Amino acid sequence: MTTLLADSRDTLFQPVAGVMTRQDWERLYAGDIEAILRLKREKNAVILAHNYQTPEIFHCVSDIRGDSLALAREACDLDADIIVMAGVHFMAETAKLLNPAKKVLIPDTQAGCSLAEGITADNVRALKAAYPGVPVVTYVNSTAAVKAETDICCTSGNAKKVVESLGVPRVIMIPDEFLAKNIEAETGIEMITWPAHCEVHERFTPEEIRQYRRIHRGVVVIAHPECPPEVVVEADFSGSTAQMIDWIARERPEKVLLVTECSMSDNLSLLYPDTRFVRPCNLCPHMKRITLAGIRKSLETLQTEVTIPVEFQEPARRAVERMLAV
Ligand code: SF4
Repeated sequence: MTTLLADSRDTLFQPVAGVMTRQDWERLYAGDIEAILRLKREKNAVILAHNYQTPEIFHCVSDIRGDSLALAREACDLDADIIVMAGVHFMAETAKLLNPAKKVLIPDTQAGCSLAEGITADNVRALKAAYPGVPVVTYVNSTAAVKAETDICCTSGNAKKVVESLGVPRVIMIPDEFLAKNIEAETGIEMITWPAHCEVHERFTPEEIRQYRRIHRGVVVIAHPECPPEVVVEADFSGSTAQMIDWIARERPEKVLLVTECSMSDNLSLLYPDTRFVRPCNLCPHMKRITLAGIRKSLETLQTEVTIPVEFQEPARRAVERMLAV
């Protein structure tokens, strides 16, 4: 096995130097990083990393980074043989839907999502029966079985555009009740909702935001639209993780509070060292199941491969592709 030269290690460590010591990086991560980079070359694999992944994954081994929309889009153009999803299961399923000929691996099959687990295909069929003719817009944070019951998918980054593209006064928007309510407030389009929530974003409260503003005078507050509507109205801006990044790149605030998962602030503080990130810390336990050691093992063993039951493949892909065409 070849080892990385000292100067390669310097280059690899540099992007995360602001959040960990070189000693910890060498002790905890360097061996796995070295192995993963070698395995990617040997197996023609790429790693897609969601914005909520920890810095040593996000900055040291991933090839494509972003929110679920960016990952879904980028997945379409990959010529690698293997895709490793450093994210949660529904993201790996979406990558597989869009790249059916490729091997898609998830390092931990327990990396789920409270939204995806909050609704079943039977629930969607019941909603459609209760509201015949009303189009179903499904957040990508859902299983392939649920997507297969859907007219069109959306992400938090394009939900407004997708809903408006339908040109109707009322839609069924599932599974995230808060995202649907926030989009309803923005568009005036009536939403029939489902009571599922993101277990990370539902914990934020308006009082917490007001308290941060009192303690950190002048802080700019950016909230993810999976937060409850009463939290979003307290924010200066609301957007998907990619829209948060664009906003910070454009506005370069002195002090910012990202009302979302913790790792997002860690990753961005490395890219924007002049901005001070106030960190309200709500961790996603599912995202945190993905580790460097898990990614390494996944590449070594080619486990666990994500498969989608044949009956869901076509209808679920159609719903995702419709979204990408908007
Ligand atoms: S942060 Fe929320 S929406 Fe994202 S994977 Fe975790 S539970 Fe699901």
